[in-house]
Amino acid sequence: MHDVIIIGDGPVGSQVAYQLAGQGYDVVVLGKKEKPGGKVCCTGIISQACTNSFAIKEEVILRRVKSARIFSPSGSLIRLWRQENQACVINRSVFDTTMASQAQSKGAQYMPSRSAKDITINDDKVVVGATHDGKRLKLEARATVIAAGFGTRLVEGLGGIDDFVVGAQVEVETRGVDEVEVYLGQKIAPGFFAWLVPTSPSMARVGLLSRHNPEFYLKNLISSLHAQGRITSYQGSPSYRGIPLKPLTKTYGKRLLVVGDAAGQVKPTTGGGIYYGLMCADIAARNLGWALEMNNLSAKSLANYEREWKKKLGRELKICYWGRKFYEHLNDRQIDRIFDTTKTNNIDDALLKADDLSFDWHGKAILRLIRQEVLAKTLATMKIPFHIGTKFS
Ligand SMILES: Cc1cc2nc3c(=O)[nH]c(=O)nc-3n(C[C@H](O)[C@H](O)[C@H](O)COP(=O)(O)OP(=O)(O)OC[C@H]3O[C@@H](n4cnc5c(N)ncnc54)[C@H](O)[C@@H]3O)c2cc1C
Repeated sequence: MHDVIIIGDGPVGSQVAYQLAGQGYDVVVLGKKEKPGGKVCCTGIISQACTNSFAIKEEVILRRVKSARIFSPSGSLIRLWRQENQACVINRSVFDTTMASQAQSKGAQYMPSRSAKDITINDDKVVVGATHDGKRLKLEARATVIAAGFGTRLVEGLGGIDDFVVGAQVEVETRGVDEVEVYLGQKIAPGFFAWLVPTSPSMARVGLLSRHNPEFYLKNLISSLHAQGRITSYQGSPSYRGIPLKPLTKTYGKRLLVVGDAAGQVKPTTGGGIYYGLMCADIAARNLGWALEMNNLSAKSLANYEREWKKKLGRELKICYWGRKFYEHLNDRQIDRIFDTTKTNNIDDALLKADDLSFDWHGKAILRLIRQEVLAKTLATMKIPFHIGTKFS
């Protein structure tokens, strides 16, 4: 019997595997693909803090990012810029492969082409049922970690994820794009945003988030950027993937933890989940390591994991979800007005200088924005069907 079966060979599953195998546990990682990596629908922007904390290898990084150009629905521009690198764009496929290799170097055993189908929790062990080459197999361990990404059915019974959005993306050839660009507007990406992220001098990722018709909006975006001469051609077919906007109701159980997108540990403002997922992977591995050592894998013992990750991220996720819902209620005219007020009163500069606008933590900036007197006055005249004075515990 193994110590831990990790279901999911994405970055989060591999980080849990790396940490637990590093503590000397017998760890098996199940992945439904032929090998970790391959085509992943992800823009791959991670902060400098994430790169530093998780020692992201140089060969994974395609490009560093110091600035972003944000366009309002009417085309007004705010350029956010800092002297130091704020983020980098990674090659997701190479990243996933590297994370898996690091876990393997600590002794984790990868079993590709195994799709986990069910989990049975007994008093003394966990049995994971999976398929391999059309055949059924069963694996046993003392505990299991679900890191199978968003939408996995394996978390049924732990409540659910109440809200999600679909991300759509395609690789394009570009001309003259050297900064990250973000486009706002209900006609571009209703309630969300679209992006153009250069990965090299002639290539970029174009994508958007939308609750409905992502294909339609992505096609429109590509046509518009093509007409402007920004995109010269696009390669391959677009890819689509769900992104959770709220955490899973319960992320632990007897002999069980849920981590990463499967647990909804994602920034509700942008849909970015790599950094939060990796942070939670470390918290999961630490708590599961203790529980294995004490041989106490009860739900009560593993509840510490949820307490710890919620202490770190819970308030931030609540504020950012509130900010997200607020933004979704705005029409293009209202977004333009907020944009203009921000620009003419240099609120963007103030946010940058106060260090409130961090790549990973948006809660402080949201709270500062809604408390800005001049912005509050603008909002008060806009008749938004939304309560501004919410308190976040
Ligand atoms: C369009 C788009 C753009 C994004 N851009 C960014 C970005 O710029 N920055 C950022 O931080 N985040 C971004 N994200 C989010 C980011 O991709 C996820 O947060 C991240 O991949 C989560 O990692 P994970 O390991 O939890 O899950 P995943 O990466 O989804 O990995 C799960 C793995 O488990 C495997 N698996 C699934 N089910 C089973 C099963 N039953 N048995 C065995 N294996 C299984 C899957 O094949 C997969 O390899 C983006 C997402 C989308 C859709």
